[in-house]
Amino acid sequence: MPLPWLEGLYQQLAQSFTQQRFHHAQLFNGDKGVGKQCLVDSLADGLLCASPVNLRACGNCKSCQLNQAGTHPDKRVVKVEGQTIGVDEIREISDFINHSAAQNGNKVVVLEQCHKMTTAAANALLKTLEEPSLRRYLLLTCEQTALLPATILSRCAVHEIKVNSEYTKKWLASLNIANYSWLELFARQPLLVQQWQNDNQLEAVDSLYKFATEI
Ligand SMILES: [Zn+2]
Repeated sequence: MPLPWLEGLYQQLAQSFTQQRFHHAQLFNGDKGVGKQCLVDSLADGLLCASPVNLRACGNCKSCQLNQAGTHPDKRVVKVEGQTIGVDEIREISDFINHSAAQNGNKVVVLEQCHKMTTAAANALLKTLEEPSLRRYLLLTCEQTALLPATILSRCAVHEIKVNSEYTKKWLASLNIANYSWLELFARQPLLVQQWQNDNQLEAVDSLYKFATEI
């Protein structure tokens, strides 16, 4: 589902891609629940699709089918399982990038929560960033750019994900979430609220909030 508060940024990125100005390393910074993952997933699909329109995946080609099945050989997603992202995970990314592509030519790496890289991992990533390869794209997400070395930041196109609370309020309303008094507090993290809804935790959050405010 497209997230309305991300549309403007997506259009800018699509335009830069059409004009062949799309940076090989795109870093998206923003709060947990703002939609970074949705954004990089859509971008990755668009970059891998054989016939994208405005960097949106067509949904029908071989690449799109592989993405839908989660088995695209030219896409690699690195998610944090422990507290940190280590140097081995980054070296694996470099290897992946250096091998030739299996499908239409582009290869995409998604590196989530890259602020959790160790110093050694960040140094290894720096080497990859310094030697960009044609048709290789790195999509990074981060919750706090202050935790990343300036050398990394200077080699990425950094985007602050901004939320328009008018859009997020409408979007939350479309999910049929009751008008809890605390919803306003999470206007910048709408997907966090959606996650609570999916996990049936909204009532629990509401009780906690009432309990906390009574104190
Ligand atoms: Zn496609």
